[in-house]
Amino acid sequence: MLISEATVALADPERVAADLIDHMTTHDVAHDRHGARIIVHLGVGTGILEPVNGRLRVRVEAEDEGGLEMLRSVIASNIIDFAEGETPAIVWSGYDPTSATFSNFREMRLLSSVALTPRMRRLTFTGRDLGRFASADDLHVRLYLPPPGLERPEWPRPGPDGRTLWPEAERRPAVRYYTVRRAAAEQVEIDFVLHDAPGPGAQFALTAEPGTLCGLAGPLGRAAPPAAWTLLAGDETALPAIARMLEALPAEARGEVLLEMDEAEAAYPLSPPEGVRVRRLRPAGTGAASPLVAALRDLDWPDTPDLFVWAGCEFAVARTLRRHLRAERRLDRDRHLVVGYWERGQATRS
Ligand SMILES: Cc1cc2nc3c(=O)[nH]c(=O)nc-3n(C[C@H](O)[C@H](O)[C@H](O)COP(=O)(O)OP(=O)(O)OC[C@H]3O[C@@H](n4cnc5c(N)ncnc54)[C@H](O)[C@@H]3O)c2cc1C
Repeated sequence: MLISEATVALADPERVAADLIDHMTTHDVAHDRHGARIIVHLGVGTGILEPVNGRLRVRVEAEDEGGLEMLRSVIASNIIDFAEGETPAIVWSGYDPTSATFSNFREMRLLSSVALTPRMRRLTFTGRDLGRFASADDLHVRLYLPPPGLERPEWPRPGPDGRTLWPEAERRPAVRYYTVRRAAAEQVEIDFVLHDAPGPGAQFALTAEPGTLCGLAGPLGRAAPPAAWTLLAGDETALPAIARMLEALPAEARGEVLLEMDEAEAAYPLSPPEGVRVRRLRPAGTGAASPLVAALRDLDWPDTPDLFVWAGCEFAVARTLRRHLRAERRLDRDRHLVVGYWERGQATRS
């Protein structure tokens, strides 16, 4: 276990800690309180915050340097955001000022691009030391897409307070989240949806030439853990994640897949085990309720507590599904994971 610590002088560390708790509650981040001590559980590790004598003591713990860097960055950004008008000095133990980029960052080049369906393209990338992205537990990456035409991109790197130091605006890569469909030591495949309002992500999939450099960091995000019955639900952006999870299920697995997608997208290859039924639901169109909501409400559930529900879809739909699972199905937090993959009318904030 790797550990890094910082002691941050603040005018009112108790108030900053209270704001942090509110923020985590709103964003559904798992955390516990033990007296004044707050323990935050993020996928990559744990953060412990404690106001002591006019200071906020912070400690992060993770299995590897990449996890540590991510925790330092998230916690430092939050402390600075909530310090309102102050400029707190945060200096982490173990910070290496010479590191050129994050330890979980890799550079790769576009090798090829093929159409899988009318709205989905598979891009294959090559690079060195990409094996970490084949992890069965973590499905996603942060993809760094440099401004078009920039031959030698610059990448973000960690600053002394843990936050990311970005290149200047005109050299700054856009960051988008994508699922690694397949990875090997020197190759990564990502399936891009060509949606109707393409931002840097979909635009890259449409126009990038073989040889183009981009970056990726991670992996992040949990897959559905083993269960006697598994429900996987999502729109077309979740297809790569669902395809990967279906491949990882054992042959005797039982479950259900609900997919909101056009008929033409059915060509996207899925390999469900025999006991897992796949249902495609026609998209309702902008403004109408997603068919995922009604399908999930109407679904007959097996009579077992050993089940898991995973969903990836539009942000507001994800919120409705999460509410249904918790309030009506009374599903514990460790029995479901519902992720907002994109937000209607809103570009991804990177
Ligand atoms: C963990 C995670 C994994 C993901 N994996 C994948 C993946 O494997 N493949 C994939 O294609 N996407 C995936 N996504 C979704 C993808 O990150 C978003 O669709 C993202 O917005 C695309 O970036 P962009 O630059 O094209 O558009 P942005 O600049 O982010 O947004 C521009 C506009 O497009 C709209 N928009 C974005 N996505 C869609 C959409 N799907 N349909 C309609 N309108 C949209 C936005 O509302 C906005 O108005 C994933 C998201 C997350 C969080």
